[in-house]
Amino acid sequence: MSLPQVPDSFYWTHEAWGAALRCRPLESVAQHLFTTRQLELPSREAWQKLASSAGVSSDRLVTLSQVHGRHVVTIRRGIEPGALQALQNSRPDADGVVSDAPDVALVVRAADCVPLLMADKRIGVVAAVHAGWRSTAKRIAARALLAMAAAYGTKPGDCRVAIGPGIRGCCYEVDAAVTDAMLAALPAWEEHAVASRPGHVRLDLGGVNRALLERAGVRPDRIGDVGLCTACRRDLFFSHRAEKARTGRMMNLILLRDERRET
Ligand SMILES: [Zn+2]
Repeated sequence: MSLPQVPDSFYWTHEAWGAALRCRPLESVAQHLFTTRQLELPSREAWQKLASSAGVSSDRLVTLSQVHGRHVVTIRRGIEPGALQALQNSRPDADGVVSDAPDVALVVRAADCVPLLMADKRIGVVAAVHAGWRSTAKRIAARALLAMAAAYGTKPGDCRVAIGPGIRGCCYEVDAAVTDAMLAALPAWEEHAVASRPGHVRLDLGGVNRALLERAGVRPDRIGDVGLCTACRRDLFFSHRAEKARTGRMMNLILLRDERRET
């Protein structure tokens, strides 16, 4: 398979199971990856392959029951093994998770919804966010930054963010229910939309999330957007919309590098 070109801030890697994407600005802070449909989940073996690509044991993965909401889970360094296991078993209803624990890998699943991986290089904090339209409209990206600020003292200006593959303006036609919600979240949302049929627009959900991150204080040059559309590249990605919901999910993982923390 030929892999599409990506911006300089991203690069492809060849894992034992297939192709994955990584983002250079996150590298010095966090081990991380965006998978492709070449890693099919769920199965115990696939979770182990995912963990292995991140250099972590599969019993250190944390996943969420993603509910298209606004809630962000906080994990603290030194979390007791029993508390971590309880969190893993309960899979809390949330669409974002933040952590300053170097040995816990945060995972969000997505197939069209926008995955965001974030890292605060100064303090050593990472975040994984699942931003479908509902969570985007609830400003989940900014809420993750607020959770990082509240728990660890993160400043948005210290954060690097990678926007992974999601459905883009070429393929994501939405109606007034979505655009009304976008207006409430981001007054200038129309900069990220083009008119299509009457009453509909094609929306660039990645662009909306980038704008929300910038409004929250993340420097534009510290946001990398891979720009790939999941619905256009069904050979490479799962697409909930293009495949009529009968599809898998990509895994988007981030893990703090303890040895590379800087002050
Ligand atoms: Zn597309």
